[in-house]
Amino acid sequence: MKLNNLPLEFKQALPVLAKLQAAGFLAYFVGGSVRDSLLGRYIHDVDIATSATPYEVKKIFCRTIDIGIEHGTVLVLIDDLSFEITTFRTEDQYQDFRRPKSVAFVRSLSDDLKRRDFTVNALAMDSSGEIIDLFDGLTDLSAKIIRAVGNPSERFGEDALRILRAFRFVSVLGFEIDSDTLAGIAKTKHLLAHISAERIEMELSKLLVGSFYTQAIGELLKLEVEQGFPADITRGLKGLAKLNLPLSLEAAWVLLCYFNQSTPEEVKPLLKAFKHSNSFIKRIMRLLSGLYERLRGQWTIDSVYSYGLSDCLAIEALADSLGQRRDDEQIRQLFAALPIHHKTDLAINGTDILAVLDKKQGSWLGEVLSELEYQVLHGRLDNRRQDLLDYLLKLERK
Ligand code: ATP
Ligand code: MG
Repeated sequence: MKLNNLPLEFKQALPVLAKLQAAGFLAYFVGGSVRDSLLGRYIHDVDIATSATPYEVKKIFCRTIDIGIEHGTVLVLIDDLSFEITTFRTEDQYQDFRRPKSVAFVRSLSDDLKRRDFTVNALAMDSSGEIIDLFDGLTDLSAKIIRAVGNPSERFGEDALRILRAFRFVSVLGFEIDSDTLAGIAKTKHLLAHISAERIEMELSKLLVGSFYTQAIGELLKLEVEQGFPADITRGLKGLAKLNLPLSLEAAWVLLCYFNQSTPEEVKPLLKAFKHSNSFIKRIMRLLSGLYERLRGQWTIDSVYSYGLSDCLAIEALADSLGQRRDDEQIRQLFAALPIHHKTDLAINGTDILAVLDKKQGSWLGEVLSELEYQVLHGRLDNRRQDLLDYLLKLERK
C-alpha cells in the first residue's frame, strides 16, 4: 500500500531520509506518525528509524543533539525543524519485566519492527510513501484493533507498561483490544506493579485525556489492571468512567481525586505516588479545594477574589461536569465588581505602612495588610491612600 500525498510533516523530513540513504543506510518513517497519518489524525512528531548507528548519524548531519544515545536516538536539527532519528534495534535482555538492560543495534528494519508493541505501531513508511506492513497492521488499523506484535503474554512479560499502553490507545484512538491480547493482559497484569511510577503516570495521563477514556477506563477496570498502579485509584477511575465529556489533564486529575473520595490530606501523597511534579500537585490541590468550596455553596466575594477569574471559571467547569448548573456570567460580574483584584492593588504597601507607623518589621505587618485588604474588598474602606492611612492610625490608637 502506498500513501499518496505525504503530509507536510513527512515532506519536510524527506531531506533527512535522502541524506541517510545517500550515505548508504536504510531510513524509514516509523511509529505513531505513520499510524496517525493513515488514520487522518494530527501528526505531532515524525520519528525516523535508520540502519545507521548514532555515531554514523552524527557524522552525516552537522547539527545534532544526543537525546538518548544509549537507546540509539539522536535529534537532528535542520533549519528550524528537528527530527528524532533512532537506530534500528532489538531489545532482548529484559530485566524485571521492565525496559531492556541494553539495546542491540541491528541493520534490519524487520528486527526493529518486531520489538514494537502493537501491530498498528509497527508500520513503517519509506520516502515514496510505500507502507511496510510485516504484521498485518493495516488490517488492524482498518478494523480498529490493538493487537500485540507476536505472543501477547511474552511481549507484556518483557515490558509490562505495554499493558497500560494498550488501554491508552483504546482511549486515544477509539480502538478495541483483540481478544488474545486481552487474554495476555489478564495473565500478566500483576507485572505492572514492577513498572516505575513515572512511566505509569505518563501513559495514564495520556489515557485520561483521550477522547474514548470512558471505554478505556471501563475495560481497564474490568481486568483490574489498576491494581498494579502506585496508589489505589479504583473509585476515582470508576467515577471518571461514568463521565462523558472531554477532559483536560488538570480536570482529569482533579476529578479523579474527587471521585476517589480522597481527603485533602490524602490527595498530596496520592499525586506524589504517581510522581507528579510539585507544581502540578499544588495546582490540582488548589482546583480541588475550589471545587469542594463551590459544591458547598455559591461563589462569594471572598472565593472569587482568592481564586481569581480564570481559576474560578476552571472550577465552575469542573462543577458543571459534576452536574452543577454552570453560571460563568455571575462569576464574571462578581469579579468585575471587586474593588481590588490582588493585594498589590491596595493603595498602600508594606513600605508605606512601616514609614507611617515607625515600627519594626514583624508578622504584624502581614496581618495589618490582610486587614486592609479585607476592609477594601468588602467595600468598608475606599482604596485611597489617605483613607487607608487614617484607618491604620485609628487601629494603632486602639
Ligand atoms: P504518540 O502519538 O502518543 O506519540 P506513539 O505510537 O508515537 O504515540 P510513543 O510512545 O511515542 O507512541 O512510541 C513511539 C513508537 O515506539 C511506538 O509507536 C511503538 O512502535 C514504539 N514503542 C514505544 N513504547 C514501546 C514499548 N514500551 N514497547 C514496544 N514498543 C514501544
Ligand atoms: Mg510518538
